[in-house]
Amino acid sequence: MERGARESELALEARQLSVIYGRTRALAGVDLAVGWGERVALFGPNGAGKTTLLRTLASLTRPTTGSVLIGGQPIARDPLRARRLVGVVAHQTYLYDELTARENLRFYARLYGVAAADQRVDAVLEQVGMYQRRDERVAALSRGMQQRLALARAVLHDPPILLLDEPDTGLDLASFQVLEALLLGSAGRERTVVLASHNLEQGLRLAHRVVLLVAGRVVYAAPSASLDPAALEAVYRQHLAQR
Ligand code: ATP
Repeated sequence: MERGARESELALEARQLSVIYGRTRALAGVDLAVGWGERVALFGPNGAGKTTLLRTLASLTRPTTGSVLIGGQPIARDPLRARRLVGVVAHQTYLYDELTARENLRFYARLYGVAAADQRVDAVLEQVGMYQRRDERVAALSRGMQQRLALARAVLHDPPILLLDEPDTGLDLASFQVLEALLLGSAGRERTVVLASHNLEQGLRLAHRVVLLVAGRVVYAAPSASLDPAALEAVYRQHLAQR
């Protein structure tokens, strides 16, 4: 990683983020601080603002007010630096249907300026279990396979921070393990992760901390170790009932 980024204690920081779309307030003053190597699971009902928060953290959506800092620096100051530090899995896969799996990843590797790109692409294809299917067009791949490739695309430049919006969409059991391995990174190089999910059990298992978002606000946050899925579900339902 480039010099400077790790000098900040926080990998990621959202300060009083608000996003307003027309008459909809998608985020209403969200504060979130994530340390290096920390994994945070973001839960909340449909429309709570999870996607908006992740898109704003990834600098894909501009906040109406508030700011996002990556590695201690506002993303607005140097969006390219922020993109180098961050890998994103969004609802769209950002893959080109008419290109093969490998062509897609080679395209993104060039875009990101990845060193030894061809070897890196093959290694990542292997990691997500798609090496055998490397020469097939994306249009001909199943949804879960496309999602595996979206994960591959997100980690291609080996970013220390991953932002994932329901990354388990369409994944089978084996792919879950691929996802978990990618999230955890290698020993001593744990990734910083913010992940939105509807799967309480998986989110609890993967994350150090859970955050519950309701109507654009953080209504609850706790260390995962203090909860089991039943306790988390009870908290979740209690907050929904109060709306
Ligand atoms: P889900 O669990 O369904 O994925 P979410 O928590 O990710 O939901 P968001 O997609 O962030 O929720 O949406 C938050 C609110 O902002 C919703 O009311 C949604 O309709 C609104 N919204 C999101 N994107 C837009 C947009 N581009 N234009 C207008 N309104 C939007």
